[in-house]
Amino acid sequence: MPVAKRDSAARSVLYSDGMTAPAPLLAVEDLHLHYVSGGRVVRAVDGVSFTIERRGEAVGIVGESGSGKTSLAVALMRLLPKNVVRFDGSIRLEGQDIRALSEDEFRREIRWRRIAMVFQGAMNVLNPVLKIGDQIAEPLQLDGRLSKQAIRSRVNELLVRVGLSPEFATRYPHELSGGQKQRVVLAMALVLDPDVLILDEPTSALDVSVQAQIMNLLKDLKQDPGISMIFITHDIGLASDLCDHIAVAYAGWHAEYGPAERVLLEPRHPYARLLLASLPRLRATTPPQPMPGEPPDLTNPPAGCRFHPRCPYRFAPCDTDVPPPIPIGDGGHARCWLNDPGVAGDLYLAHLKEPAGVSHD
Ligand code: SF4
Repeated sequence: MPVAKRDSAARSVLYSDGMTAPAPLLAVEDLHLHYVSGGRVVRAVDGVSFTIERRGEAVGIVGESGSGKTSLAVALMRLLPKNVVRFDGSIRLEGQDIRALSEDEFRREIRWRRIAMVFQGAMNVLNPVLKIGDQIAEPLQLDGRLSKQAIRSRVNELLVRVGLSPEFATRYPHELSGGQKQRVVLAMALVLDPDVLILDEPTSALDVSVQAQIMNLLKDLKQDPGISMIFITHDIGLASDLCDHIAVAYAGWHAEYGPAERVLLEPRHPYARLLLASLPRLRATTPPQPMPGEPPDLTNPPAGCRFHPRCPYRFAPCDTDVPPPIPIGDGGHARCWLNDPGVAGDLYLAHLKEPAGVSHD
């Protein structure tokens, strides 16, 4: 029995030719989140844009540690640290500007109800003295709109949906394996039937076979009930398995964003290209290439292109001029001057011919 849904009549966007279309499910534009740490400003999210067009789509946010992936999730959930010095940009859910909501409105209408999150390591913080069923049921009990019987059936329904039998409701966390705990954590995030589920490294603590089972479960949840996902990972291979779009995070930016297949097969940012070249491949004739250099300090990122100290392709403007997100033509973008023929000249065409990317074998 699904939880009673809010009135979610999708709003529309009006184009210059007078046509309208349903607003995207989630549209994030030029989002910034800066906070102070040790007396210095950390530019954790620094002008990030991406879109989830419709239900059942997944966006992968891929990158090294310290690239701002988790800070983006924290910004979307508005679970902001106290020392925030900048939080701006646009976050629209079905056309509604949810960044403009008051804290109280956001807590009542959005957080957990429409955007939910599975935190990294969440399966390790289940309450050891509470039965699984009670932990899943807690938000419904606080909501107070369902009878005890209805809450029980919702918990059972969720347990089955995540691949566990209803009898798990009476177990304690210590009686569960790691994979079973991760399924329970997913059930907890789904309890209020959110539109968007953020998953922060949901499989990183699991062994490979359990990881595959959880990935299959996520693929099922995309189809039915049509959950949209923001999948945060350092593993671009995992993201390619689940996601329709991929954003390659680097130093608080999205270095590249676009349809997953295009980003994997024809990456347009050197960082994405090098990230893919660092992956082991089953039938590759050359060994994986290590990524050169270290990620930059987000309190003092390099001038110009933030990737320029590590970039083997850098040219004249790269260490002075900040590349904007340059449109690729498929709705995606790359923050690299090589994609602007007016700046890169002949290098533009040479860049397009670079054979890079990953095949699915
Ligand atoms: Fe490399 Fe320049 Fe492109 Fe940055 S803008 S990724 S330094 S080529």
